[in-house]
Amino acid sequence: MSFKVAIVGRPNVGKSTLFNRLVGRRIALVDDTPGVTRDRRVHAARLQDLRFDVIDTAGLEAAAAPTLEGRMRQQTEMAIDEADVVLFMVDARSGIIPDDQTFAELVRRKGKPVILVSNKTEGRGAEAGVFDAYSLGLGEPVAISAEHGLGMPDLRDAIADIM
Ligand code: GDP
Ligand code: MG
Repeated sequence: MSFKVAIVGRPNVGKSTLFNRLVGRRIALVDDTPGVTRDRRVHAARLQDLRFDVIDTAGLEAAAAPTLEGRMRQQTEMAIDEADVVLFMVDARSGIIPDDQTFAELVRRKGKPVILVSNKTEGRGAEAGVFDAYSLGLGEPVAISAEHGLGMPDLRDAIADIM
């Protein structure tokens, strides 16, 4: 069985963008509308020398839970249960918001290894947002830009430490 990496976080932080980058093509739907990914997707991925399976998660699933929040939670929990490591993604541009805290609490409760990833760090002005991520209590954030491919060596090292 191959090593599984789940990308978890609230809508719109850039999970599907990273998924597509790791998979090497555009599979997950990326959209400005929060929660636009409709399926939980698992795909073979590569990051430099590392090979693993990556799981994209999202919000608007046709799962049993009656509320949107419940469906998001259920999808996220299933992905975490399947995963060997969780990439918990936040958005350095928006900073930490209450939804991040909610998802972080869920991740913490599951007890799986977590790599905190602060996305959208390209350009100026992202430092404060990256620093803000320490407040989640999930360790030191790995700063990346999923869209621009920045921070991939650091992400590779963080995953390799757990593999
Ligand atoms: P998801 O809901 O977490 O899967 O997020 P998506 O991957 O769909 O991305 C949400 C939005 O953030 C889209 O408009 C992306 O183009 C944008 N985005 C993703 N990664 C980055 C990044 O590294 N930098 C910037 N500036 N925008 C990004
Ligand atoms: Mg998505």
